[in-house]
This record gives sequence, C-alpha cells and structure tokens, in this order.
Amino acid sequence: MALISNESLERVKQAADIVEVVSAHTDLRRQGTHYMGLCPFHEERSPSFSVEPQEKLYHCFGCGVGGDVIKFVEEKEGLGFAEAVEVLADRYGVELEREQEDPRAEAKRQRRRRLEQLLERAAAFYSNYLWESEEAGKARDYLAQRGLREEGLRGFGVGYAPSAWDKLLVRGQQAGFSVEELRAVGLAQRGRSGGDYDRFRERIMFPIRDRRGRVLGFGGRAMRSDQGAKYVNTAETDFFHKSQILYGVDQAKAAIAKAGRAVVVEGYTDVLALHQAGVEEAVGVMGTAITPDQVAALSGMVEEVVLALDADSAGQEAMLRAQRVAAGRRMRLRVAAMPAGEDPAEMIAAEGGPERFRELLDGAEELTAFQVRLVLDRTGGADPVARDRALTSELIPILAAMDDSQEKLQNELERRIADRLEIDPPRLAARVVAATPASGGRQAPGPESRAPAQAPPVRAAELTSRERRERALLAMCVALPGEGKEYLARLTDAHLSPTGLRAATWLREHPDDPASNLPHEDGELAGLIAELVIMSREEPASHEAMELNFLLLDQRRLEDEIAAAGERGDYERRAALSRERAALVQRIAHAERPARSI
Ligand SMILES: [Zn+2]
Repeated sequence: MALISNESLERVKQAADIVEVVSAHTDLRRQGTHYMGLCPFHEERSPSFSVEPQEKLYHCFGCGVGGDVIKFVEEKEGLGFAEAVEVLADRYGVELEREQEDPRAEAKRQRRRRLEQLLERAAAFYSNYLWESEEAGKARDYLAQRGLREEGLRGFGVGYAPSAWDKLLVRGQQAGFSVEELRAVGLAQRGRSGGDYDRFRERIMFPIRDRRGRVLGFGGRAMRSDQGAKYVNTAETDFFHKSQILYGVDQAKAAIAKAGRAVVVEGYTDVLALHQAGVEEAVGVMGTAITPDQVAALSGMVEEVVLALDADSAGQEAMLRAQRVAAGRRMRLRVAAMPAGEDPAEMIAAEGGPERFRELLDGAEELTAFQVRLVLDRTGGADPVARDRALTSELIPILAAMDDSQEKLQNELERRIADRLEIDPPRLAARVVAATPASGGRQAPGPESRAPAQAPPVRAAELTSRERRERALLAMCVALPGEGKEYLARLTDAHLSPTGLRAATWLREHPDDPASNLPHEDGELAGLIAELVIMSREEPASHEAMELNFLLLDQRRLEDEIAAAGERGDYERRAALSRERAALVQRIAHAERPARSI
C-alpha cells in the first residue's frame, strides 16, 4: 500500500474542524479559547473533555484519553490511522497524494496482510466446522453442557479443528497459501519425518483477537483426556505473544470503558460465560498468572481491575505478582475470590449463578486486604517464630508499600494484624513507618501533599503527586518554550516516570511545535502530549512555578537515591545525600514563597 504523503496529511489536518468532528459525539461549549463538553469516551455528569481548536487536540481530564483530530476519528469510529485520514480527507474535500514507500517495508506489510488473511480464513474454517460437521457433534454437546449458547459462541467465533492430520494444511494450500505461511502463523508444524501437519486437531478452537478484532492466534481445548495438553495455544509467532494477550478484549473494550472496570478471568469459557450473563467487561488472561504486559495493557484502558481468578494457590500467587506489577501505575486491583473448586463459568451456569457472581464482584476486596487475609489465615495459629517471620517478611512490606491514598485501609489492616497476631498496635505502626520508603508512603504532610490549586477533576486524584508535578512542569515547558528548553535539559531519567520521560524526549525533539505530527503509532504518548499542550493553554505558567516544580521533582529523586543507598548499606553516601536534601528543602521553602506549585 502506498503511504499518504506528509503534505497530504498536513492538508487534511489543516482542513479538518475538530470542533465539528467532536460535536457529532458530544455537545461542546466554548470557554475562552477552548471548548468543553461531556466526554464521549466515558460516562460522566460534569464536563472534563477539553478541545483545543487551534492545535486541533482533545484531552479528557477524567479518563485520560487524548490526541489529535485523526486519533479522535480512529478511536471513535474504530478505524486504523490511514482509514481515519481517508475519512477526514473525504469529509473536508482534500485529495490525498500517496508516495511509494520503501520496497522492503512494503513487502513486510504485504506479508503481514496475507498472514492476517490466513488467520481470518482459518478462524472462519474452524467456526464453520463446529456448526456444520458431524464430527464436531461432541464439541457442540460439551459447549452446550457448559451452558454456552450458540449466539455467544458465534459472536466470539468459537470453532472446531477436525481430527484429520492435514485438513487445514490442505485447505490453506488450496486457498493459495504456502506451507511456510501456515507455519509462520503457527497453524502447521513440521514433524520428525520432515512432513508438515496441522498443529490443532480434534480441539475446540478459540480465536484470539487484538483490540481491533484481528485474529492473532488460537487456543485449542482438547476433546479427549488422552490427547496431551488440555489446552494448546498458538506457539509464539511474530503475531502471537501470549504474555500480551487479553482474550475477548475486542468484545469487551466498550463495556470496560462504560463500566470503568475490567474483570479478569482465567479461561476462554469463563469469558464467554460472563459475556453471555451480561458481564461484558470480562477478559481472559489464559493462565493463572496475569503478566506485566497484561497489566500494562489494562492500565491504558481502565483504572480498576477486578481479578476473578481461581482461589487455588496458583491463582493467589498470580494475584500477588499482579500487585507488584500494578504498583506505581494508576491502577486499583481488587480480588473477587472464587469459592474453592469453582470457576466463573461453572458459577454462572449454576442456578442463581449470575447473581452470585455479581455479588462477588461488588464485594471484591482490595488486593492488599486480600493478601493480608491470606497471610493471617495461614499464620494465625502458628508458633511465635513463624508469626514473627510472616510479620517481618510479608505483612509489614505489604503495609509499607501502600500509598497515601490508602491510609484508611492501611490503618484498618494494621488493626486486624495487631489483633490476630497479638501485637501492641503502636509498635506495629512504628515498624510499618520505619519500613516505608522515604520517597512515598506515610510522611508528615509537607508541600507534597498539598492539594492542587486548580486540580483537573477526577483523574488528578489517581495520578501520583510525582506524575501531577511532572505533567505540570512539562506543560509549562510547552507554555514557555525558551525556559522550557533549559528545564528539559536539566530533567534526567531519575526525575521522571517512564511516560514522563518519553514525553520529555518528545518535547526535546519537537521544541517548536510539539502538537503537530503526534506519534500515531504510540497512542499513550500522543495522548500525553495532547494533554500537555492543552494544559499549557489553560493553566498559568511562570518561571517561579517551573523552578519550584523542578526542585520538588529533584527532592523526589534525592529521596529515591537516599533509599537506594540505605538498601545497599552505603551509609556514608546516604549521609551525604541527606545533607544535600536538607539544603534542597531550604531552597524549596524559599522558592515556595513567591510561587505556587500545583
Ligand atoms: Zn473521558
């Protein structure tokens, strides 16, 4: 496919009226130089969706979405970048010119498109086979027994792989695909004798799709107990990275945005059963463990995730891992503990099951509370040595890792632990404070915990104070580009969060017009840049405020270093850093007088 030329892209952006485009989805009102309205991406009662007509950017201070006019069309209409450009070009009468791209990239893209077609056709073949063939009768019976109805199964494209060794291989080749291509997408594999055969045979097939609904691979469930692994997935291919996949995300994404939460379950049939029962925000992680990549993918979509994983030990271990991964992200993890020996699909299929499941969801407890309960249940009756070990190595670290926003829960958990393990509550509290890193957790209220003067609604509370501060500073760098350059040079990796760092890099590389040509392949970064540019227009900036925000970020950095030196046992370095910190605190106190930090 030929690429749309940059000049055409510019002309489309020039011609497009973002206020008009957005107004088709929500009512906008002018407020000074920008427009505000109810967010068309999440449900809200007071407007936090901002549109900047000159730069043609949008940003929601509630759910965090944002980007340029092209991104808006992509997201709202579910289109790819090129398609969104075409829609806008059509609407605003811009003739698109295309340029020939690098032949290697072109070949790669064409191959990718062929492989996508192959996966799509394989999915259609399996689906037909499930509903049409005699051989699949037992599979249809099995699915019906699990309470799964045809409509839902068809919606998810569930299918059946025949038992013959080469049915798909033959069909695929008849349709013009090569054995090599069948292998590349993980549908065929080479046997010891050198011949190829179908990877999936005599299995119920679950096509696994990305957010946009493109088939990436399959999960296959065995029909017989002597058939080897109960579940076989597509092997890792260029398309298919198991650790990144959320099963059902294409069907769930709208419901996730609407419900403001995602429900994470283990298996394919759990997802199907929940969607059938109206819990359409359910996605599957295909295994007992939720991976860092999956947590990252979810944290871009939603801020609350309920883990409804099996309550066996493997599932519990997975939840603890998820907690470590979510730490530092704006993400609230809760646990709906399934009764032992019951998975969500089984529960839903039982009499009164959907209601019971909803109750479990509504009563889901904070992951930290869940963790504490597990440890207490295990060690409650143990000997004093074992109890002290659990306290020191498990419970105190859990409490110390909680952030300011969870103070109430933290107190409650301390009370529970003191009670069960018969410890003096003030002593426990002191040990928790001692274990809390200097850079976070509970501290005497200082400038850090001051409420923002003009806090954007809702989401501000879910950003860490460090992220709020770095965004404020970066927005001011956009507002005052001259001084901005100086601060962008002073900011290092140690000052910034990973996203903040990417934004700073972008601003360094695009000092004059950060908003033109947002990186459309990196939605998170594009959204953040849109946010910064909109903030830079709407909020005051001054040299004093920049300096203060920088010093506060620098204090954060120093505190991280102090903690790290302490952990290494490098007390000399720690003392030196602490002196540096004291001097910095003085400067902050001085800087605070004229300026107002956020
Ligand atoms: Zn929103």
